[in-house]
Amino acid sequence: MDRTIPLERFDDMPVMAPQILQEPDNQPGTKFVRLNLNENPLPPSPNAIAAMHDAVNIANRYPDHSCSALAQIISARIGISTDRLAFGNGSGEMLFAAAAIAVDRNDQAVLPGPTFAPVGKNVRLAGGEVVTVPVLDNGSNNVSGMLDAINEHTALFYLCTPNSPTGGMLEAEQIKLAADRVPSDCLLMVDEAYHEFAAWEGGPDVLSLLAAREGPWAVIRTFSKAYGLSGARIGYAIVGNRALAAGFSKMRIGFNVNRIALAGACAAMRDQNYLEMVLDTISRERQRLSVTLQNYGLQVYPSAANFLLARANKSSDTIAAKLEEHHILVQTLPWPDDNGSLRITIGTTTENDAFLNALTDAL
Ligand SMILES: *Cc1c(COP(=O)(O)O)cnc(C)c1O
Repeated sequence: MDRTIPLERFDDMPVMAPQILQEPDNQPGTKFVRLNLNENPLPPSPNAIAAMHDAVNIANRYPDHSCSALAQIISARIGISTDRLAFGNGSGEMLFAAAAIAVDRNDQAVLPGPTFAPVGKNVRLAGGEVVTVPVLDNGSNNVSGMLDAINEHTALFYLCTPNSPTGGMLEAEQIKLAADRVPSDCLLMVDEAYHEFAAWEGGPDVLSLLAAREGPWAVIRTFSKAYGLSGARIGYAIVGNRALAAGFSKMRIGFNVNRIALAGACAAMRDQNYLEMVLDTISRERQRLSVTLQNYGLQVYPSAANFLLARANKSSDTIAAKLEEHHILVQTLPWPDDNGSLRITIGTTTENDAFLNALTDAL
């Protein structure tokens, strides 16, 4: 008997929830400026807030498991039938389900590195092995390098555009290459958590590029970022065929999408003006921050998302620790060298100014 519980593959899994963000009174608090989680600094659309208030009154009733109202709105928007949509408790759940659906024991998944950390964890939870292909110098996925890493064990091919945490966006050409060349017994997954921001900057239309693909594919999107509903937890997958949608459906825990999130997501999608205001605001602030950081002597990477990747000639961990003394939270990552980089979420003007002030001290 050599079984251990939890299973051995849990040994090096990271534990969730950094202590610093605990909320003993269920309030985010005012002590810290949170530029570390790529949240939207602006509240959800007022219509979404009103819809969620209304939904609270019927919280005694289970939600619509088919998410039919939201499915119809999305279907009409993207021109793909509702039976090719799947919903989850944040897009994180879709990423988890995708690994479970596609990856068998000892299968491999090809991922960019660095990328959204839970994806690799999901693969390992499914008993699979992660093959990491470093991102390009500009922070975008190295698609041809990733294609070269495919072998007969490859079950999942994960692209993230714009890539978190590095920010780089894929060109249409690269997405088309993956759509054509990823084998038809391998799930091609494209994480578009920052889709709305990327589209605002004129990014490629991933869905239409995948439409011609013969093998299975899934595009993952969320209401957590541009729609400002991180706390409500709702995301979705758009998939290439009905069988794959059924796979996601089989993975679902009952009533995984709550009615408050559903109501909020529907109202948010209907409020296009508010979304455009958010995208315009974040885009301008990102531009301002980028220019200022470069004036401070930092190297700033191109970004079409609600965050920037920047680096100084100094350890990013040291800078982040100093920022934290000023109650500013940012994320660090060990890329592209020993100094690492800072991933800075675009906040409000006030928050960004507080960050810039603290940074002059940290540098
Ligand atoms: C934020 C993010 C997600 C998931 O967010 P949810 O809140 O679970 O919807 C997924 N992928 C990437 C790349 C992200 O940055």
